Amino acid sequence: MRIKGTKKYMLAVSILLLALTTCKKEDNAEELRLAKINTLIGDISADSIKNHVEWLENMGSRFCFSDNHLEVAEKIRKKFVAMGYPDAVLDPFIAVKTFRNVMYEQTQYKVIATLEGTDHPDSACVVGAHYDNILSTSDLTIVPGANDNASGTAAVLEIARVMKLNNYKPQSTIVFIAFAAEEIGLYGSKNFAGNPNEFGGKIRFMLNSDMIAYETSSSSSNWQINIMDYSNSGALRHEAEKMCTDHTLLGYFTNNSNNTRSDSYPFYTNGYKALFFFSGDSDPNYHSLNDVSENCNFPYCAEVVKLQCALLAYKN
Ligand SMILES: [Zn+2]
Repeated sequence: MRIKGTKKYMLAVSILLLALTTCKKEDNAEELRLAKINTLIGDISADSIKNHVEWLENMGSRFCFSDNHLEVAEKIRKKFVAMGYPDAVLDPFIAVKTFRNVMYEQTQYKVIATLEGTDHPDSACVVGAHYDNILSTSDLTIVPGANDNASGTAAVLEIARVMKLNNYKPQSTIVFIAFAAEEIGLYGSKNFAGNPNEFGGKIRFMLNSDMIAYETSSSSSNWQINIMDYSNSGALRHEAEKMCTDHTLLGYFTNNSNNTRSDSYPFYTNGYKALFFFSGDSDPNYHSLNDVSENCNFPYCAEVVKLQCALLAYKN
């Protein structure tokens, strides 16, 4: 169909106006998203993270088969409740394991809090970390585990805190999980990712923090985070790298793909996209009594937390 001169002109003007309005709307949406990211990460605090870590470190033992393991889980649940997540739950499962010649068959508890999505409440973005720890020595009565993995658990708590503080409304539900029994074989994450849950298969992605506070340099120009991806999550890693550049003081690298040694792995093997944030292999205090908060770098850790919080907000 041919359109006559004036009509053609009017149509062109209408299309231009529509395009400009659409652009403007997209600009506004982008600005709004950026403003949300900045507000959220502006409230992430190294002192607050340090408090979370010290609180976990001072619970005595966080070995999963210690007598106090239910008490530890319940304290973490109550922390979520105090932050404004009254529906935080202990999600039980049975762990069967022979460890140092003792056979255990014991209930373990994941701690789960959710921030419901506005547009897709049945679809989940999981941010998780294990809260248990272990020592290489036989006496497990004191197991401080500050870097491994009070630091990761603190990341989950801190993101939950700032999101609630700012009355943040994500599009998809954000699921905060403190995993149990990682050290004896990723039991908590295998249980969650490998079994039906209220989100069915609708887990958009999972972010895992394990040992994110060991950094010897006090100068942020030396700070790097290892972002490990899986064969299905390369694009998500690139988005995480963008968050590093745009919103944190961190450089980044990746030295491994399909890493099998932490809670992100069962998500990958069950078909979900996952990333594993790790400060490095070099922590000399690993699985020892020296893994205490004095040996953690909290300003560095706060940047790793900001990166994940920014990514969650960017994807929502
Ligand atoms: Zn760990």
